[in-house]
Amino acid sequence: MQFVLAITAVALPGMLFALFQMRHQPKGLYILFFAEMWERFSYYGMRALLIFYLTKHFLFGESQAYGIYGAYTTLVYILPVIGGVLADRYLGQRRAVAIGAVLLVLGHLGMAIEGEPVAPGQSPNEIILNVFYLSLALIIMGVGFLKANISTIVGELYPKTDKRRDGAFTLFYVGINLGSFLGAAWAGFLGETYGWKYGFGLAGVGMLLGLIVFVWGTPWLKGAGESRNPELLARKRFAGLSTQWLIYLGTFVTTILVWLMVRDQEAVGYLLSAAGLVTVAYIYYRSVFTLERHARDRIIAAMFLISIQVLFWALFEQAGSSLNVYTDQQVDRTIFGQEVPASVFQSLNAGYIIYLGPLLAALWVFLAKRGLEPTAPQKFGLGVIQLGLGFLVLVWGANAAGQGNLTPVIFIFLIYLLHTTGELCLSPVGLSAMTRLSVPSMVGLIMGTWFLASGAGNFVAAMIAQATAAEGADGENVVLTVYSYVGWLAVAVGVGLILVSPLINYLMHLNTLSDEAGAGEKKKALTEA
Ligand code: GLN
Repeated sequence: MQFVLAITAVALPGMLFALFQMRHQPKGLYILFFAEMWERFSYYGMRALLIFYLTKHFLFGESQAYGIYGAYTTLVYILPVIGGVLADRYLGQRRAVAIGAVLLVLGHLGMAIEGEPVAPGQSPNEIILNVFYLSLALIIMGVGFLKANISTIVGELYPKTDKRRDGAFTLFYVGINLGSFLGAAWAGFLGETYGWKYGFGLAGVGMLLGLIVFVWGTPWLKGAGESRNPELLARKRFAGLSTQWLIYLGTFVTTILVWLMVRDQEAVGYLLSAAGLVTVAYIYYRSVFTLERHARDRIIAAMFLISIQVLFWALFEQAGSSLNVYTDQQVDRTIFGQEVPASVFQSLNAGYIIYLGPLLAALWVFLAKRGLEPTAPQKFGLGVIQLGLGFLVLVWGANAAGQGNLTPVIFIFLIYLLHTTGELCLSPVGLSAMTRLSVPSMVGLIMGTWFLASGAGNFVAAMIAQATAAEGADGENVVLTVYSYVGWLAVAVGVGLILVSPLINYLMHLNTLSDEAGAGEKKKALTEA
C-alpha cells in the first residue's frame, strides 16, 4: 500500500506541472490528455497483471504464458493500421476512438470474470478461459480503433506549421505515462493483494472514465477528427447495410478471428510480416499514384522515420525482459539499507517522463523561438544515441565493478534515465511528425504504421532478449556482450541519422506545408472514393 501511495504522491505534482504547461495549448488537448491517460491506465494496469494471471491463476507453463503474452502485445500494435485506415476513409478519428473506448471497457470488465483458481494438475475451465481470450480480443480491437487515432486528433488541433506541435505531443505523452505509472501500480496492487478481478475491474473502471471524459469533452475538440466523408458512412453498400453497419459487422468477425489467434504466437508472427509487407506496399502505391511530388517525398521521409522505430523499440523494450532479469540477478538493489525488488524499477521510465516531459516540451518551445530547435530527424538521431549510451553506461558500470561483483544500482537509474530522454526525443516527436508529414486522407494509415513498426520492434526485442539468455563460454557475461554490441550499434545508427538528417529534412519540404483541404493530393484521387 505504501508503495502505491508513494507512486501516486510522485505522480500528482508531475500532473499539475504538465497541466500548467498546457495553458498555452488548445483546450482540446486537455480532453485528449485525460482520455489517453485513462486508456493507458487500463492498458498498462491490466498488462502488469497479465503474466501472473496466466501463470498463477490459469497455471500455464512459463513458455506458453510468454507465448500468449507475446501474441497479445504484438496484435495490439498490428490492429491500429486497420483502425487508422477505417478512420481515414469512413469513420473519422473521433468516432473511431469512441468505438475503441467502448470495446476497451467491455474487454477490461470481461477480464474481471476470473472463475475459480485452477488447481494444480487440473486444466482451466473452458468457458472461463474462452471468456478470457474474448476479453483479450476486445482489448486488442479497442486499442486498434483508439490508439493511433487519438494521437492523430492531437495533430489535428494544430495547423501544420504550428510551432507548439512537438511540445503538445510531448505533454500528451506525459498523459500516456501518467496513466501507465498509476495503472500498473494500482491495478497491480489490487490484483495481487485482493484478487485478480479487482485489478482488472479497476482497469475497466479507468477506461470507463476515459470514455466519459472523451464523450463529454467532444465539443472542445472543435471538429478535429470528424469524418471527411460522412455521406460515405451512411451509403448503403451490401444487402441493404450501410458502410457504418458493415464496419460493425467486420469488427465482430475480426474480433472472432483475433479471439482464435491470440492463442497462437507463431501465427501472429506471420501476420505481423504479412501486415508489414502489405502496409508498406500500399503506402508506396498510394504515394506514387495519388500524391503530388512534395507530399510524396514527405511520406518517404515519414517511412524512413518509421523504420527507425523498429530498432528503437527492439532495444528499448529490453526493459521488461532481459534488463529486468539483469536487475534481478546481477545488480546490488540495496537502497537505504532495503533490498528493492527488481520489478519496482519498471516504474522508473514512466516516472522520469512525468517530470522530464514538461521540461522537454518547454525546451523545444524555447529553442524554437530562437530558431535553434533541432529538426525531427536530428531529434531521432539524438534519441537513438542516448538509447545506445544507456546500454554502454551500464556495461561500463558493470565492468568497473569487476567480474563476479554485483553492479551498483546507480547504473540502473542511469540506463533508464538515458533511455527515457532518448524516448522523449523520438516517440512524441515521431507522433507529431506523422501527423504533419501525412496528407489528411492517409494520416490514420501512417499513424497506424507507426505503431505497427513498434509492434515489430517488440517482436525483435524478444529475439534480442533470447540472445542475452544464451550460454557464454568461460563464465562470460553474455548479456553484457549483447548490450555492448547493441549499444555501439545504436550510437552508430544515431550518428548516421544526424549525418543524413539534412536530406530527410529536405524531403519533408516544410516550407510548402499547407493546411488546405486536399493539399498535396492529385485532383483525380480526390474525386474518387
Ligand atoms: N509507451 C508508449 C505508449 O504506450 C509508446 C508505445 C509504443 O509506441 N510502442 O503509448
